[in-house]
Amino acid sequence: MNYSFRKKNKTVKYIVLHYTGMKNFNLAYQKLTDQNSNVSSHYLISRKGNIFNLLCPKYKAWHAGQSKWKNLTNMNDHSISIELENKGHEFGYSFFTKKQYISLKKLICSLKTNFYISDENIVFHSDIAPNRKQDPGEKFYLDKIGINRFKKKIQSKKKYNINELLSLYGFHKLYIKDYKQLCIKAVKRSLNYDQITLNESKKFLKDFYNLLFD
Ligand SMILES: [Zn+2]
Repeated sequence: MNYSFRKKNKTVKYIVLHYTGMKNFNLAYQKLTDQNSNVSSHYLISRKGNIFNLLCPKYKAWHAGQSKWKNLTNMNDHSISIELENKGHEFGYSFFTKKQYISLKKLICSLKTNFYISDENIVFHSDIAPNRKQDPGEKFYLDKIGINRFKKKIQSKKKYNINELLSLYGFHKLYIKDYKQLCIKAVKRSLNYDQITLNESKKFLKDFYNLLFD
């Protein structure tokens, strides 16, 4: 099992959601618990809804890799990870199961209470590493577990441009500068679009605006 000690000045404020992206559960379990894999996760939820606590959240898991969010870098320092069993875009991406959502809801509920984590700090791997990652992806519905990351947090009639919207969403400024199109793709996954394309259509801008401002 891979882990590091958390530094005292870095507090856990986030939950990062992933999919396993492997052909089956056993392979995912093996990888996440193999010392030579260079990755690990605090939690893993199987398609049957079983929750596996692989690492105590007081230790740092190696799940996010190079990552940034808002003004933070290295999100492993600031987060607890939950992996959801799913073959992912590479091996046959499917919808998550009802049992997974039920278990995820319970788990997130208890983590939120124990670590004082707010809804807006439940983020996707694709948000904190849009240049590299696409999980948990467009077939994952956060509203199915009653979480609304963006609930009316900003009230405004102002017209924002795309860069401002991406910044309000939470992307780190360097990602907006260097990987703007990939940030847009990540937002489309959040919006559960069927097609994750690069274009900035009028519909997308309207959906994006509505996501942030309700
Ligand atoms: Zn991931």
